[in-house]
Amino acid sequence: MFDINNFSSFALGEWVAPQGANRDVHSAITGKVLGAVGGTLDVEAMRDYAKTHGGPALRALNFHDRARMIKALALYLRDHRRALYELSFETGATIADSKIDIDGGIGTMLVYASKGRREMPEGHIFPDGDLEVLSRDGSFLGQHICTPLRGVAVQINAFNFPVWGMLEKLAPSLLAGMPSLIKPATSTGFLAQAVVRLMLQSGLLPDGAVQLIMGRTGPLLDVLDCQDVVGFTGSAATALSLRSTPNILKNSVRFTAEQDSLNGSLLGPDVMPGSPEFDLFVTEVHREMITKAGQKCTAIRRIMVPKPHLLAVQTALTERLAVTQIGHPALKETQMGPLSSTRQRQDVLAQSRLISDSADLVFGSFEVPDVTGADAQKGAFISPMLFSCADPDVAQSVHSIEAFGPVATLMPFADIDHGIELLNRGGGSLVASVITHDPDVARKVVLGSGALHGRLYFNDRTSQAESTGHGSPLPHMVHGGPGRAGGSEELGGIRGVKHFMQRTAIQGSPDMLSAVLGTWVKGAAQHTAESHPFTRDFHTLRIGETINTAPREITIDDIEHFAKFTGDNFYAHMDEDAAKANPFFSGRVAHGYLLLSFAAGLFVDPNPGPVLANTGLNALSFQKPVEAGDSINVQLTVKRKTRRTDEYGEVRWHAIVRNQEAEQVAEYELLTMNSYSEI
Ligand code: NAP
Repeated sequence: MFDINNFSSFALGEWVAPQGANRDVHSAITGKVLGAVGGTLDVEAMRDYAKTHGGPALRALNFHDRARMIKALALYLRDHRRALYELSFETGATIADSKIDIDGGIGTMLVYASKGRREMPEGHIFPDGDLEVLSRDGSFLGQHICTPLRGVAVQINAFNFPVWGMLEKLAPSLLAGMPSLIKPATSTGFLAQAVVRLMLQSGLLPDGAVQLIMGRTGPLLDVLDCQDVVGFTGSAATALSLRSTPNILKNSVRFTAEQDSLNGSLLGPDVMPGSPEFDLFVTEVHREMITKAGQKCTAIRRIMVPKPHLLAVQTALTERLAVTQIGHPALKETQMGPLSSTRQRQDVLAQSRLISDSADLVFGSFEVPDVTGADAQKGAFISPMLFSCADPDVAQSVHSIEAFGPVATLMPFADIDHGIELLNRGGGSLVASVITHDPDVARKVVLGSGALHGRLYFNDRTSQAESTGHGSPLPHMVHGGPGRAGGSEELGGIRGVKHFMQRTAIQGSPDMLSAVLGTWVKGAAQHTAESHPFTRDFHTLRIGETINTAPREITIDDIEHFAKFTGDNFYAHMDEDAAKANPFFSGRVAHGYLLLSFAAGLFVDPNPGPVLANTGLNALSFQKPVEAGDSINVQLTVKRKTRRTDEYGEVRWHAIVRNQEAEQVAEYELLTMNSYSEI
């Protein structure tokens, strides 16, 4: 289905064959040359094209349109994933590896598509946080909002996850409304190119939304400005050189770096050999060492074990590593394929030699291993290597050298404080895991180590069946880490979308903010409903439309009946003396839930109509007690409307319950699902 020897870029709306290619790309399995990249592309024109075509087209869509587009793209890719697996073998990936890379990338898109529709408005402006009241009478308000940046998102990706690495950046940037220039790593870029081909072939992307640079970015970073974003994944050395580009510094171009990381995993001092946590620890470490042949930014490089159990862990790990099947990635029995290139193998061996300065090799070899179904010399095969470092307090290299392959080092610790100290020696990491059944250990690690890690992963017998694994960044959770890990964040749900948007504080009157946000805000104009809003279909309801109900008196019989009926005989409703003794009340008061129920009784229209269901209630506050003899009325205002399906949408209503003195006694947001037509 794909031509593996085609290394064209996609620029200005067309595929462009490499001119003057000078960097060969090899199969990870056979070492055979697949093709070459290089030459020059007019990257400045590509940026202009993205800005004049892709940007406006994406920004014309609202968040929900873009979320729907991302979902459709993900489903299209999912339909073609088997062809992608085939191509992925040539990068050294087994099917299990491809499921992380390809399915993981598609899954990330689906999560963003879903979050975009659930957590972002059906509009063009994203409110960031709550409304701030900036004046005494509520006539001057503030709201943080985000709008898409007007430049391009430049993605420079690492070789190890050519698909996930691209899609985890593309999903949030597309959702934000920014076009992308994607530059995959040269050695595995052919797989990223296949995914881009599919996305373009789907016809779902607007012209200019995605362009692809196979090869280097040329002078691209020299022409970016404050409306562009660079998202880099790769080594710390490349990150440093790219983020120091004078133009990037001069124009304060956003630069996120996801770089190498000396991630650690710690066995809790509470865990004994033979316990479920002990086996879980060995399983997680072994999996992290061999998945993607250890070419994972999140892989466990440092294994911290209570000193008395060091040998037991070493023995258990060694037993697993000894039976790990290394071979051709397409073979069913293969658990670990080759590295992505023989150059990478040289690099991993060189880094491992540096680690061996301060640690003993206790499993594996620097020699090329025996493998099944492939020529281990020609392909980029390597043996897993387990080191053990007797004195991790003194050793340097085990805490600073990343061998980007199936390489990890065991190290003993004396007590939990010592373990935490060792975890932190990585100088900032993407993830640290702790396998413990003791919540006190977890709490100590969070306090002692949280500031040094982007993610802390705790696992034990309770969560092991459903846990997602030390090494899996999830779209819902932040991916990134301080210091050595790059000091940046990606993903983390809608947080990740905001990296491609500008946050602006807007201030003004309630009417002004209401019009900007497309949401009724308290204090903005209200329009008296022409007819009961519950009798009107979704589309005819207007934002700001309001009904004020008739009053209803609350009697002592109501309170007693409600108490008996619901079983809520709380003393504040039933015992005059006890209620009086309470600092909040001067006597028996009505139940808050009685007020809510009576409020509904006041505003609902009883007949079948467009309101299909009451789906929730947010931000409820009871603000003043209601006593027998008081009467209440409700003001219900259409706050926001969001289409959900082809048949119905969600209406958010602002409800205020007042007493006979026009004092607010309760306030909340009510959610209903309303059909598009009267039924
Ligand atoms: P790399 O050598 O730093 O390359 C990363 C990317 O930068 C590649 O696309 C590379 O392109 C590009 N690049 C290099 N020099 C460039 C330049 N002068 N101008 C523009 N682009 C340039 O890293 P890698 O070997 O691909 O990846 C391995 C490293 O990535 C490991 O250290 C790993 O820990 C880290 N990593 C981190 C994460 C994370 O999320 N934190 C994820 C994956 C990997 P070429 O391929 O064309 O050279």
